[in-house]
Amino acid sequence: MNPEEILYPISKPSKGSSGPTWMWRFTKPVIYIDKCTKCGLCWVYCPEATINILENGFPKIDYEYCKGCGICDNVCPVDAIEMVNEYGD
Ligand code: SF4
Ligand code: SF4
Repeated sequence: MNPEEILYPISKPSKGSSGPTWMWRFTKPVIYIDKCTKCGLCWVYCPEATINILENGFPKIDYEYCKGCGICDNVCPVDAIEMVNEYGD
């Protein structure tokens, strides 16, 4: 097979591709801006594309679409994101 004929799957997340989150999210990420270094990794890895980078360089989460998966918490190199219980302790 000609190498130029090989197709590569590419994942392109789009905001709200699986709809708004509503009430079923149990944990949500909270960003501690005082720890954030503006590296942008959370923005890169969020599978729902619900993290926006503001003009000042800090990330902001759109909770209407965030699914609470915790990936942003896992990839943040400085622990600036914490998953907290959606309905209190
Ligand atoms: S918890 Fe998941 S969906 Fe929500 S902002 Fe973090 S990576 Fe995105
Ligand atoms: S991964 Fe952490 S340090 Fe990097 S922009 Fe996101 S919150 Fe800030």
